[in-house]
Parts: sequence; structure tokens; C-alpha cells
Amino acid sequence: MRVLTTDLLDLFITRLANTWEVRLPILLPDGTRVIGSPDDGTPALHGGTVLSKPTAAFFPQQETLFTATKGEFQEPQAPDRLLFVLGFTPRDLACLRFIDRFFADGWRDNIYFRQRRNAVVAGLSGYSGPGGSLLPPAGGNCDLELFWDGTLWLAIPYSDSGIKIIAELPDTAPESAMELFRQATLTPPDENENLIKRASELLRADRVPDSFWAEIGDRCIACTGCNLACPTCTCFGVQDWRSATTVERSRMWDSCQLDGFMREASGHNPLGTEALRTRRRIHHKLAADPEKWGEISCFVCGRCDSVCPTGIGILAVTREMVARFE
Ligand code: SF4
Ligand code: SF4
Repeated sequence: MRVLTTDLLDLFITRLANTWEVRLPILLPDGTRVIGSPDDGTPALHGGTVLSKPTAAFFPQQETLFTATKGEFQEPQAPDRLLFVLGFTPRDLACLRFIDRFFADGWRDNIYFRQRRNAVVAGLSGYSGPGGSLLPPAGGNCDLELFWDGTLWLAIPYSDSGIKIIAELPDTAPESAMELFRQATLTPPDENENLIKRASELLRADRVPDSFWAEIGDRCIACTGCNLACPTCTCFGVQDWRSATTVERSRMWDSCQLDGFMREASGHNPLGTEALRTRRRIHHKLAADPEKWGEISCFVCGRCDSVCPTGIGILAVTREMVARFE
């Protein structure tokens, strides 16, 4: 375990940026907090979840799969500099662990791992949550965790690259800070995690009627914000862009709340109503994924509830579901 003052962390990041492609939470001049390059704004590590999902470092909204010029195919090369991404909350890290499994399953997605393979991922926890609230430590799922004890950052490595990257930092962490870290790891699950589990049980027992989904689906305006914000949403569409000599194939995030998401070439649409699409969004994470992956794929990061303009993010829906059908 190593220790950093705020000034030393700034210096550490500045030095890292000489050799690594660094991404971290920054404050843009317009006041938005995003994951970005240190050159684009002021580092803003405190405040908890950043609305733009940090998993976009490895699965961006749009990316080129290949280009073909006069019959010659070319795939994008791996980036010159390796990525160091800081700013995952412990819940974001659980999301990243899940999509790592997803993209490695069966046909391994080399496009995803081109960015992900050698990246160093760093989590933020401790009293760095919204308004200085406690984010219980991730205790893993990353190469390195930075834990704010109120005055200092503890740096806890979990991988060889994590150990290497902080090897030069002072290792004089105060005993009180280390004890705080140990105690924080014992924080029990919060009520929202329990809520999601209870809703998952209801769905898997088929106790939620179609009329509920018709009612919830009626409130969706298909803005796609929930899917675009969610770190475990991995659906994408593929599109070809043509010039006179070149075709570029790229993929971009898709949304299961859109009418065309599952529409087939025949015109038949298995998800032809907003009710079915809204059911699918929630059912997929709470019932289908537990069957396939052995775990619920919502890690309660809170983004879909923050962005949904009509109040039907997953927590709002599950709260209503549990109140009515449990
Ligand atoms: S809270 Fe919403 S955005 Fe976050 S993981 Fe769950 S479904 Fe996705
Ligand atoms: S954010 Fe809300 S309104 Fe927008 S697509 Fe998702 S559920 Fe529908």
C-alpha cells in the first residue's frame, strides 16, 4: 500500500501522461464532469460516478472495425500508447468485470481487447463519493485502487502492472488510514442492491404481469439515454461508410428501447411495442443474464436513473415492481 497527497497525485498523473495515454475524471470549462484527457480540463476525482460511462475507454460509442480499399482490408492498429484509465467507482469496476467476460466469451472480441488488453485500470473509492460520502472499496476488479481517507489517497495495487506503476511512491501510509480502509471493505450491501435482487427474483418467478410493462413502457420516449449511459449495455449496430474508393465499416452503440432494435428483414418485430422493449431492457439484466452468466448484470451504478427524463431508470422501475408484486 502506498500513499499520496493531493499534490503528489497531480505530479504522479503529470509524469504518467509522458508515457501513457491517461484518462481520468475532469471538469470541462462548461462545468461538466467527464472522463477525459488531463489536457482537456481540471482533474475532478471527487464526486463519485461520472455520468459518461468509463467503460467507453474500451468500447467507444463509435469505432472503425476495418477499411477496405480496392479489395485490400486494413484493421486499425493497436494505439501507440497504452491506456491508464482512472475514475471507475467500485460499481463501475464490477460493470467492467462483467463486460470483460462478455467480450471474451465464445468468439473473443479483438476490437474490444485491442484497447483493453494492456490498459491499467484504476478505481476511486473512500470519501470521494458525492458530497464526500463513502464509496466502499472495490478490493479488486482493477489494477490499482485509490482510496481517499479525507486527507490522503491510499494506493492499493491488485496486479503486477498496478504494483509497477506505483513502485516509486512513498509507502508510509498511516495506520489510521489503513484501518479505515479495512473497515470500509466490510460495508454491507446497500438497500438498492437488495432491491435489484428482490426484483430479479420476481421476474425469474414470472410474477410481473404484462400490464405492468404496458404502463411503464407508456412512459418511455425512446431517447435511448438509459442504454447509452449503462456500462453493461454492450449492444451495437454496424454500418458501412462508402467513398469512391474505400469502404469503412464501423460499429456504434445501439439501444433496445428503439423500434428498429430487433426488427427483422421481413418486417416482423419481436419487440414491436414500447412495453416489450422496456420489459426486455430490465428483464435482460435481472433475469436473462443471471441465467447465462450466473450474475445480475446491473451493478446499481445509478446512471440510467440519473439520465431517464421520464423517471423509469432501473431503480425506479424495480422499486415500483417490488412494492406492487412482492
Ligand atoms: S444502474 Fe442502470 S446504468 Fe447502471 S448498471 Fe444498472 S442498468 Fe446499467
Ligand atoms: S432513458 Fe427513459 S425515456 Fe429514454 S429510452 Fe431509456 S427508459 Fe426510455
